Amino acid sequence: MDIAFRNSGCIDLHIHSTASDGSFSPLEIIEAARKIGLRAVAITDHDTVDGSAEALSLPRSHSIEILSGIEISADFPSGTMHILGYLIRVDDSALRRTLKTVQDARAKRNLKIVGKLQDLGVDIRYNEVIEVSGGGQVGRPHIAQVLVHKGVVQSVDEAFKKLLRRGGAAYVSRYRLLPAEAIQMILKAGGVPVLAHPFTLNAKNETELESILVDLKQAGLKGVEVYNSDHTLEHKNRYERLALRHGLLLTGGTDFHGTAKPGVQLGIGKGNLRIPYRLVEELKKSIVKV
Ligand code: AMP
Ligand code: FE
Ligand code: FE
Ligand code: ZN
Repeated sequence: MDIAFRNSGCIDLHIHSTASDGSFSPLEIIEAARKIGLRAVAITDHDTVDGSAEALSLPRSHSIEILSGIEISADFPSGTMHILGYLIRVDDSALRRTLKTVQDARAKRNLKIVGKLQDLGVDIRYNEVIEVSGGGQVGRPHIAQVLVHKGVVQSVDEAFKKLLRRGGAAYVSRYRLLPAEAIQMILKAGGVPVLAHPFTLNAKNETELESILVDLKQAGLKGVEVYNSDHTLEHKNRYERLALRHGLLLTGGTDFHGTAKPGVQLGIGKGNLRIPYRLVEELKKSIVKV
């Protein structure tokens, strides 16, 4: 059985392009998605709608539906909180303004990280990072790739573990939107805010996660990413249970980054993700109700 057949009619609502830290352009992603038979996709780049807007500007094809998308990093000191936004108006002026502030903070932080690496004796220049990024939003994964090319570390993962992770020797924090600000920004741009890969919050147990979800729902959260390449069966079951209990939508995607995240394939993740199209129908219905 070929991949195209296995994917037919499924969706992938978590994809990174060269507009952030993915290795394929929006065009390459949409072509690949069509080829494997995906019915709907969303490009969800970190803190930018550029990749999503580019995908939406491609000539329309009836075989695949493209939803607008973004993934916002929110301030959450005890873990990593990413809020996905779907069906946003990508040209919303307030959204663009806020993203510009976040992007400027990101750029300053990247320079500081490179400075810290230089202080640690690593021979690295910011231009090398820009080159690797391909002109989109620069992030730590690009810095990690330069470190791998230079043989400072063996892998991107090692670069994060040794230097770039929060608390690592070359880590620099940056301005992030508060969770409620990220959620409100998405809502005001006409979109649906969804908590991405909840396990990265590092909640101690299900009760703690549930209380975070309740707070986020209070702030306007509408859904939870239940299906993701990095979710175990236990994660999936837990998030499904919590989402249903709190009247939140279920969404899913692979978090595909191309060659920047080896082992995760478009549409199927680590091999066994099959995310049904009806989740897109629910997403769309939730907007009509507002
Ligand atoms: P930044 O957006 O610059 O804060 O970098 C965070 C991004 O780096 C995440 O969204 C992931 O895509 C990526 N990332 C985080 N940890 C790792 C890791 N251990 N290996 C590869 N990529 C990672
Ligand atoms: Fe990423
Ligand atoms: Fe994420
Ligand atoms: Zn992501």
